[in-house]
Amino acid sequence: MTQATHDTNSTAQERPAGDPDTETVVVVRLGEITLKKRNRPLFVRQLGRNIRRALSGLDIRSSDWGPQRIVITPGPQLDWPELRERLQRVFGLRNFSLCRVLPWDIDMIREGVLAMAAGQSFESFRITVQRSDKRFPGSSQELERDLGAAVQRASGARVDLTQAEANFQVEIMPHGAYLHTERVQGPGGLPVGVSGRVVSLLSGGIDSPVAAWRTMSRGCEVVFVHFQSFPFLDASSRDKAISLVRQLTRWQYKSRLHVVSFGDVQQQIVASCPPPLRVVLYRRFMLRIAQSIAERERAEALVTGESLGQVSSQTLSNIATIAQAATLPVLRPLVGRDKEEIISEARRVGTYETSIEPDQDCCTLFVPRNPATHSKIADAESAEEALDVQALVKQGLSNVETLNFSWPEKTGDE
Ligand code: ATP
Ligand code: MG
Repeated sequence: MTQATHDTNSTAQERPAGDPDTETVVVVRLGEITLKKRNRPLFVRQLGRNIRRALSGLDIRSSDWGPQRIVITPGPQLDWPELRERLQRVFGLRNFSLCRVLPWDIDMIREGVLAMAAGQSFESFRITVQRSDKRFPGSSQELERDLGAAVQRASGARVDLTQAEANFQVEIMPHGAYLHTERVQGPGGLPVGVSGRVVSLLSGGIDSPVAAWRTMSRGCEVVFVHFQSFPFLDASSRDKAISLVRQLTRWQYKSRLHVVSFGDVQQQIVASCPPPLRVVLYRRFMLRIAQSIAERERAEALVTGESLGQVSSQTLSNIATIAQAATLPVLRPLVGRDKEEIISEARRVGTYETSIEPDQDCCTLFVPRNPATHSKIADAESAEEALDVQALVKQGLSNVETLNFSWPEKTGDE
């Protein structure tokens, strides 16, 4: 797959020779990235890398890059459903269409639209013409009327401008007319990798995978940390974390998961600190250990799935007491979201089914009957005086298993 930064005009001559009447391409329209000025080359380079990874193993002949769009030319073995599914997970893409490219000739465009219409059954339709190149003679409306009349004659279907079953779309570009019937929504956002790296605290729950995904959608590369209480609890939460990371890797191509065995640290907190503060103290140690991992990973922030008020432990005062244990910023992309919204997003991301499987989460180990809902930083600090904080962090860090993931399994280019 080739990548160049020239505009669509100059790609016309460079397009490999072939029969232009039957050429099929995928036109990909870029999202927010088109608004960037200074960082644009960097963003475009990263997006190119991500698309190459996402499409590795598929039959792609070439790709031409313009300022607003990319034209991907597949080879003869085009697997459109697979290509479609993969592109839907590339952050930075607004939408894309499988197009037939025709020359700038009204008779050939009409023939092309009729051929496309003949392959479908519909009772109502509309034609949408967009003249991106105004040198094409006539107005968009004239062309729409001409093509509409032809399709109506051939199919007997009626024109419906608001709720048509089929929408035949023609985009007049500098080097051809692009015909398609569907704009497939991309995920939008920014290409993974342009915003730096973060460490996400991943439980086996519904929220934290969505929080990680949200930061990916803003261009962050996410490294995952999961805490388990093995051998006090079983390894079910680790298995879930692995399967969640596998799902999430489909959106960022490469991931690393650090599984921290945290049971010994928890045991010492239980032995020396007031029971109501246990959960808050567990979380403070999680953040400290995650922060040390972040430093090794050269990550610039931590991410949690906390959502304000969702459970009684997620009060402002507990959030403040927990965050004070870390110096890195703690991002909480779900802070203002309802559970329903988070669940529907988890379904879209592909993590929901795994998240709802039962597990033994480490925060359920030795949980007191009345956990603090309004903790104070000073109380947490005085409770921690009974502990050797640095030694416990070190102990946590000495029990880390690191796993690497990649998707598609064989990327071929690394
Ligand atoms: P989730 O659905 O993500 O588990 P939650 O609503 O259950 O969130 P809490 O249990 O209060 O909320 O956890 C808050 C956040 O703390 C989680 O979103 C996650 O980022 C982090 N966290 C909790 N348990 C773990 C764990 N075992 N390993 C890593 N991070 C954890
Ligand atoms: Mg949870």
